[in-house]
Amino acid sequence: MKAFKCVLILLMLVVLAGCSNLTDPIQPADAPAQLNTLEATDSKNHFLWGYYNLDFDLENLTASAVPDRVSMTHFNITSLVQPPACYDCLELEILQYNPQSSYIELKVTLKNNTSVKGYDVRGILLPKVDGIQLLDAESYTPLWSEGAFSSLNPFRTFAHSVPSRIFYPQYWDFRIYEISYGVLGNLGKIGYAVDVSYPGNCEEPYEILVPSEPAKFIENYPTVVTVQILDWQEDVEWAIIYPYPLAMSDYSDYMQMTEGADNYWAASFSNSNDVSPGYYYLWVQAKSMGTDVVTWNKVKVSAQDAPPLNTIYVTYYAAVDTGGNLPFLENPGGTDFEFSYTIASQLRSWANLLWNKYGFNLVDDGTIHIMDENASDWNYYHLDSETEVASMHSNYGQSATPDTLNMYFVQTLPYDIETAFCTLPADGGLSNHKRQHVYHVYSPNVYFWEEVMAHESGHAFGALEDIYLLLPFIGYYCYDLKNDQPPNKQYLYCEDNAYYPGNLMWFSMGWSIYAYDLTLGQADWVEWFNDEYPESW
Ligand SMILES: [Zn+2]
Repeated sequence: MKAFKCVLILLMLVVLAGCSNLTDPIQPADAPAQLNTLEATDSKNHFLWGYYNLDFDLENLTASAVPDRVSMTHFNITSLVQPPACYDCLELEILQYNPQSSYIELKVTLKNNTSVKGYDVRGILLPKVDGIQLLDAESYTPLWSEGAFSSLNPFRTFAHSVPSRIFYPQYWDFRIYEISYGVLGNLGKIGYAVDVSYPGNCEEPYEILVPSEPAKFIENYPTVVTVQILDWQEDVEWAIIYPYPLAMSDYSDYMQMTEGADNYWAASFSNSNDVSPGYYYLWVQAKSMGTDVVTWNKVKVSAQDAPPLNTIYVTYYAAVDTGGNLPFLENPGGTDFEFSYTIASQLRSWANLLWNKYGFNLVDDGTIHIMDENASDWNYYHLDSETEVASMHSNYGQSATPDTLNMYFVQTLPYDIETAFCTLPADGGLSNHKRQHVYHVYSPNVYFWEEVMAHESGHAFGALEDIYLLLPFIGYYCYDLKNDQPPNKQYLYCEDNAYYPGNLMWFSMGWSIYAYDLTLGQADWVEWFNDEYPESW
């Protein structure tokens, strides 16, 4: 029973976290027109364990699943995996009913009264009319869709957290269905199929995970949409996305997604059709080797107008060694890359590609300022202590007029940092977060990394916390991170939602700048920060 205790706890978490998206101004896209309904008989290891019609008694707030014998006999049921023979194999309970928002939350409990191990046992919601949505769909399938309004229907999988998603004989499990039903009359028109894979896991992708944070399309800037495609056999053949109405000319137009690490697939495009600001759903389809059954899901994206730009003036300072040489990046087998204005300016352009979307524009004075080694007792070329860092800024940046965001380029950084860092005020909190106190220091390792200056600017503009320091999978969250900061750093902004590789402050290195974004929460915070403290950031 241990495994199922685990399932129950996970389900409780899902319930607590759900239901937040009822008031979204959602504009669901139509299903691509040319989709074909795939008959379940096309797949050799999918079997129907039952086909039901959902029956709601809203006066007494009860619901039941009524076996649909006609549909059952219509589908070709194989004797190998007989449906569970019992009257209470599928039990429904209404957990929430909200007529104002046309929302019903249904707990569906399934028992396996057979003697076989079922794999990937899915409860597929099969609306027979338009306007019904499953808000917590895991993915969508064309299986068993005959008689349903759409050829793609949402499902949730029982024994979801059990290894290999095996539904053992004599076990039971439940899944919560968050249903938005449109008009009341629709509730009587929902079919429900229980699909089981046998004798092993399904061959098609078993789930397409979509990010909880919608990808943001700001003006015409390219944005990367990423999904994670899970497949038991690890043999995903291809994945495509349907970007209309944002890009391309029709719902049936699609583009290929590219496979990356950890089963992530991505596609980059922009809102070239200039759709109005709002939320949109885009279909993603994935196919694996050895089966014609495909798996689908919808990715939520948002289209937004770009905010007006705040100009941030920046000044580059470069340290030189005793021979007057600038910091350089060692190029094995080639010429070293010496620091230059071109490199700094390129980093700034990359940073602007991201920050223009959020209302900031970095502008430099067209040159690099050399820090004159002979004028100081300190060696800034190899920074090796906090004292040297502070001295460098007080000798150069802090004394400069007018005040700008200062960026220092040196050969080595203190504290064993190999990339770059941003210093924030030691005290005074928000009101002290001024250009005078906030500055960046860069090592040569960052010359060709597109996201570095953008990331450091996240610290400067909005005191955004480094999300990569979180370890949610071992139970370490923003709350803990903030508590580990000195009390005067409590104004740093942290958001657990931002823990994903494409987040600018999560800082996965080496990607194209287009792959990065901020969460809406981070973007709002930066905007608020700038409004509230115009002299700071
Ligand atoms: Zn950082």
